[in-house]
Amino acid sequence: AEPLLEVLDLRTEFHAGGVRFAAVDGVSFTIHRGETVGLVGESGSGKSVTSLSILRLVPSPPGRIASGSILFEGRDLLRLGEAEMRRIRGNRIAMIFQEPMTSLNPVFTAGEQIAETLRWHRRLPRREAQARAVELLRLVGIPDPEVRARQYPHQMSGGMRQRVMIAMAVACDPQLLIADEPTTALDVTVQAQILDLMKDLRRRLGTAILLITHDLGVVADMADRVLVMYAGRIVEAAPVDDLFARPLHPYTEGLLASMPQLHRRAQRLHVIPGQVPSPARLPAGCRFHPRCPYAMDICRHQEPALKPAGEGRWVACWLRDEPAAGGAPAAGAAR
Ligand code: SF4
Ligand code: MG
Repeated sequence: AEPLLEVLDLRTEFHAGGVRFAAVDGVSFTIHRGETVGLVGESGSGKSVTSLSILRLVPSPPGRIASGSILFEGRDLLRLGEAEMRRIRGNRIAMIFQEPMTSLNPVFTAGEQIAETLRWHRRLPRREAQARAVELLRLVGIPDPEVRARQYPHQMSGGMRQRVMIAMAVACDPQLLIADEPTTALDVTVQAQILDLMKDLRRRLGTAILLITHDLGVVADMADRVLVMYAGRIVEAAPVDDLFARPLHPYTEGLLASMPQLHRRAQRLHVIPGQVPSPARLPAGCRFHPRCPYAMDICRHQEPALKPAGEGRWVACWLRDEPAAGGAPAAGAAR
């Protein structure tokens, strides 16, 4: 089947302090209809810039999409005019963010904001849009939706605001929902409720989801497939069960080891030493080598490419690469 979204060799650059650097550097992936794809990595790895690039919302300046293509339903979003892009945003592709307070308009009621989306994209008359807004609030599990529709964002709890945000996002039946840390700002109980809501909507509406998170627990719960991002690149891609059963990239392995256990949420078992490098100051060779317990000589000089590694799996690591001519270490040499 033709993919719903196909990102090809995307490169998004920023300009700061006289330096130009790529926050997203040669990223390629696909999302199929109805599929939930998790995009994981520590903060600063380029996840959010990737999602903003898809929606063409990278602040410019200082940012710009330097190259690549983003095929959505067969059309390259990077070649569309701004007016056409605005018709796609919030309509065919919708987005929910970590903190709905920043994306909901404080001077409009919940009902007005959802109705506005419907009037703009669907040309619904005011009355009809308002009635539909109440229905949508009901759909996302908000009690007393008629009352809530007349409330302003500041009159609601964080979890309620996130539900309003989701109602707005699904208002126009998007084909793709981009959710950037949708539950990070919420407490654990509300987080679970919002994830259940997203699962329920996905089942009912068939929406594909790009789920951006640093929380592998959320990914395990939600995703069909996982992309692991590090320092602007995808370093591993795999079906979710395979990734958890047998991570192939040392960075993925580190992320899994640092995952808090469900029954001991506060306890960190293991933390990957060091930090994600600034995209303006990347190490030579494999970008992960200063933090990698398996780093070999070749890792410090040559960057590994993302290559197929079995059924539906991809990895960028010299440990997993075919032994090259000239005596590069064999796959798994450091294990
Ligand atoms: Fe570690 Fe080398 Fe693999 Fe990079 S290429 S993750 S440094 S083993
Ligand atoms: Mg982010």
